[in-house]
Amino acid sequence: MANYLPEATEVPLCPVCGVSSSGLEVGTRGRFEMSVRNIACDHCALVYQSPRPTQKAMAEYYATTYRDHYSDVGYNAPGGGYAVPGDAQFEVAKDSWHQQQAANAQKLGETKAGDRVLEIGCRHGRTLSLMRDAIGIEPYGIEPGLDEAEKARAAGISCFVGTIEDYDPGELRFDQIQSFHVLEHLHDPLAALIRMRSWLKPGGRMVIEVPNVYQPYGLLEENFFQNAHLTNFSASTLRVLLARAGYTVLLTLDYGALFAVATTDEQAGELPLPFVPGLLPNANESAIWVADRLKTYQILERLRVLLLATGPTMELLNELAGTLKRPGFIPHTVNTVTEMAEYFVQQEAPRAAMFVAVAASVGPYPAEVCSRFQALALQLHAIAA
Ligand SMILES: [Zn+2]
Repeated sequence: MANYLPEATEVPLCPVCGVSSSGLEVGTRGRFEMSVRNIACDHCALVYQSPRPTQKAMAEYYATTYRDHYSDVGYNAPGGGYAVPGDAQFEVAKDSWHQQQAANAQKLGETKAGDRVLEIGCRHGRTLSLMRDAIGIEPYGIEPGLDEAEKARAAGISCFVGTIEDYDPGELRFDQIQSFHVLEHLHDPLAALIRMRSWLKPGGRMVIEVPNVYQPYGLLEENFFQNAHLTNFSASTLRVLLARAGYTVLLTLDYGALFAVATTDEQAGELPLPFVPGLLPNANESAIWVADRLKTYQILERLRVLLLATGPTMELLNELAGTLKRPGFIPHTVNTVTEMAEYFVQQEAPRAAMFVAVAASVGPYPAEVCSRFQALALQLHAIAA
């Protein structure tokens, strides 16, 4: 059935802290106009789906409607623009994405020649093939899709068809395990990380990429929140999850998407380790902290779309000034203000640009961000004069 949609029938304990199932509601809808409710956990501030579809319902969705829903996912073309299936640039764009992925995995994992590397959700094996060709790794994959797994095998990848729960490597141990945009789809990411930890050599590396809830893309309820994404990690919640699963986190990178590199913590006791608030890297990042910033993000994104469409009306500018008094995510707020100011200058409305920069310069941001906005306001004052 190609129009199967999974129903959210299960109220889980928070997948990161496991302490409770309560939190602040931060969204009720998601991509494809689906009903997707996300909450920010009262204890660890993880943004996650609750209620959510069961594992069985999601398996049915992945086997049916998911492919249609995501069939037109495209990639940034090397020469600029965005290429979707059918575009002349699509294959080139897709391969360039895999090359970037392979470069990230090698750099973050400090992968060496001869390393045994396992990729979770390796698809057709392209990232692993590129790593093998570039530095000579021994490539392994786990892929639930039969068609893709067969392509990976044809490319010389030792690929297991199935899930993390089904896979048994026997005596085999890995120097590196990597997963790109997988963890957010799992019902029990903690159990999966503990299982994968047992497949690593002591000191082996885990390289993870997931979407970053502190740097969302598009409108939250129209694009970023998706029913297939059961969790929406931040660097903080990903660190807590890895720590509880017996890893030492070497680094996290907020680079649009969120990257983490971790190694096995040989001193960790019985897993999972219990959640204690001391595991949170930053106690300020409470559920209210996250919910406030997500709200600001959503309002700013809507205003960006409106202002770019209609130009700088006084009503919209005042609303923007009001929104800039709210706490927001720093890279997003800075980018939005800068983009607005540049756009208004292009539209020969330097006073509107200056208005935005001045409003931002007195916002609730760190001092260095306020001084950047002040410098921008001064520059625009000179243009407007
Ligand atoms: Zn939690």
